[in-house]
Amino acid sequence: MRNVVIVGTGPAGLTAAVYAGRANLNPLLISGPLPGGLLTQTSDVENFPGFPEAVNGYELMTKMQEQASHFNVEFLSETVESAELKPGGPHKLHLSSGETVECRALIVAVGSSPRWLGLESEEAFKNRGVSACATCDGAFYRGLPVVVIGGGDSAMEEANFLTRFASEVTVIHRRDALRASKIMADRAMNNPKIKFVWNSVVTEVFGENEVDGIKVRNVQTGEESVINCKGVFVALGHVPNTKAFAGQLDMDETGYISLEGATSRTSMEGVFAAGDCADKRYRQAITAAGMGARAAIDVERWLEE
Ligand code: NAP
Repeated sequence: MRNVVIVGTGPAGLTAAVYAGRANLNPLLISGPLPGGLLTQTSDVENFPGFPEAVNGYELMTKMQEQASHFNVEFLSETVESAELKPGGPHKLHLSSGETVECRALIVAVGSSPRWLGLESEEAFKNRGVSACATCDGAFYRGLPVVVIGGGDSAMEEANFLTRFASEVTVIHRRDALRASKIMADRAMNNPKIKFVWNSVVTEVFGENEVDGIKVRNVQTGEESVINCKGVFVALGHVPNTKAFAGQLDMDETGYISLEGATSRTSMEGVFAAGDCADKRYRQAITAAGMGARAAIDVERWLEE
């Protein structure tokens, strides 16, 4: 049986691995379906401390993995399909290979995935004009028109943030009322650089090598129109990748793992969580890394006890 298993290799999982490795816990790190996590899919990361010239997301995650490998961390390229958790352990993880791993302490750092529209053209322009992260990619659109799709708080936040760079921001929402909280909605509505296209869905993203615009359809009139833009920000919310642990760990109604106070402890003794799968609010590489460090420290203390 392993002392510690960490599931997920984004900034939370890899930072937890560095800490647990340095504490001589010989952690096993299970990569998940996207080794390195969401950050591997972004281009330049300009807001991770220590990289004044910015760092490519893939390179940053490769460096984190290399750092973890210096501390007796064992890597397993696998996906957890389901889990059998027991208060105080041992916990069993069933992997996609059919293998089962048992551990005393478990750190769940499985991250979240952006919700996408599901269009072929959206997929084709991902990271070349289509993004799900204004904080990551907004600065690339200085002086250019962009669109934001969605009507929730994330969409309003992204739209407001993008007005720092973009020449104009058009929000496309499928209804005639926003889901966003009043304060966030008012802020966006009162921003002169933001305009709204209501009752509309995006049917296509088009362009040659880069995005030139989108096609939208009014769901009430059926009318089709074109909006010229260079950036398309999809803000339909995130989906935490916590399905394998559903029903065993307390989660909110959207699947984010609930933590005990300011710790990384979940509702199951001996199971800890870190990063985006337990963080609806911040969802940044640096906050995930911080949560990973906390989880490893909590595990070390819990095992000692
Ligand atoms: P959300 O509240 O679930 O909103 C998602 C938005 O995307 C909704 O407007 C929804 O439309 C739209 N949408 C979903 N699927 C779609 C599709 N296939 N096609 C077109 N539109 C689609 O997600 P969120 O905005 O990420 O917020 C999640 C949680 O985080 C909320 O509790 C929010 O308050 C919180 N949050 C807070 C802040 C803040 O306070 N600063 C910032 C961000 C997020 P409908 O409205 O028609 O369903």
